[in-house]
Amino acid sequence: MNLPHGKAFLHETRELRVRFRDGAVRHLSEELERLGAARVLLVTTSRGAAEAAPLLGSLGDRWSGTYDGARVHVPREVVQAARRQVEQTAPEALLAWGGGSAVGLAKALALECDLPILAVPTTYSGSEMTSVWGVTDRGRKTTGREDRVAPRVILYDPRLTVNLPERTSAASGMNAVAHGVEALYARDASPLSSLLAREGIRRMAGALPTVVDRPGDLSARGDALCGAHLCGWALDMASMGLHHKLCHVVGGTFDLPHALVHAVLLPYVTAFNAPAAPEGMLSVAEALGADSAPEGLLALNQRLGLPLALADLGVGRTDLDLVVELAMRQSYPNPRPLERGGIRVLLGAAWIGDLSGVR
Ligand code: NAD
Repeated sequence: MNLPHGKAFLHETRELRVRFRDGAVRHLSEELERLGAARVLLVTTSRGAAEAAPLLGSLGDRWSGTYDGARVHVPREVVQAARRQVEQTAPEALLAWGGGSAVGLAKALALECDLPILAVPTTYSGSEMTSVWGVTDRGRKTTGREDRVAPRVILYDPRLTVNLPERTSAASGMNAVAHGVEALYARDASPLSSLLAREGIRRMAGALPTVVDRPGDLSARGDALCGAHLCGWALDMASMGLHHKLCHVVGGTFDLPHALVHAVLLPYVTAFNAPAAPEGMLSVAEALGADSAPEGLLALNQRLGLPLALADLGVGRTDLDLVVELAMRQSYPNPRPLERGGIRVLLGAAWIGDLSGVR
């Protein structure tokens, strides 16, 4: 007898070492030694370089240099500049320090130079947990999945996140929640990815109000970072659907912050997919402690002081047709079949911030 739809799964595990604790970065030298890397290039932003500087001394000769020009969406020219630094300093590993932008650049370098990555994440993007890479060339982002670009070691140190501004924290946290939501209704979800997604959403949703009210609360920061880790893991195991597609189109076309677009769109895309994914919706609602998934997500955005409508991000009403056009150019998995009219209605409702307008 065949199993019902959605009950069969394929699960693969990659080699990965995760150290999660206050002061985790103090184990950097030891972890590089374990990785067998005699020389490491720090790949980061100028903010990350300043933050990592006090630790570099402890690495001695192991630190081969720093590339601090990481930028959002990994522009091709940035990869080329960082690659020259790799050629000049001949590292045996990359130390990615920062948010999704720094980790993304290290992945693009790993793809070209075959170097292992040790990641120190400082936002809730979850990119450190995935084999997904992306590079932007003349405004077009190419993405792919490749096991060899996934970090081999991750040091999660919640203390590094206490300076992440409240609004960036809230948006980044909702980006993590979006990974969990889409993993819960993915066609290739597994029992493990669903467990990770539920627990990740639960921890993140529980922690974010405190993170916003008291950014220095290390316990809440720890829960949020752990939630990001779990949701990122689920993201790695499951295909992302309409929500991620729309966020890439809207963020890329109008040059808007990746995480903030995720936060704003999530309740509306969830409402759009709800009729086609009743089990996933129940899991999301339970993890949020809400009666309904879309309303729970909207209420969380509201509680965190995030914008609630696409119009608040400066997207024009007349731009929505272009978003539909770009989102329909390629096919991708989504629980509810995709057609232009339905997506246009969803975007119109998201633009004015009216959840009941999604049909
Ligand atoms: P980001 O890395 O650009 O960081 C956002 C902002 O926060 C930046 O200004 C940064 O300097 C600042 N910042 C980071 N850590 C800080 C800290 N601890 N204290 C103070 N400020 C800090 O943005 P992001 O949202 O982390 O990542 C977005 C990028 O990651 C996008 O390009 C997105 O496509 C990619 N991404 C990739 C994956 C994947 O699996 N490949 C997953 C999620 C996101």
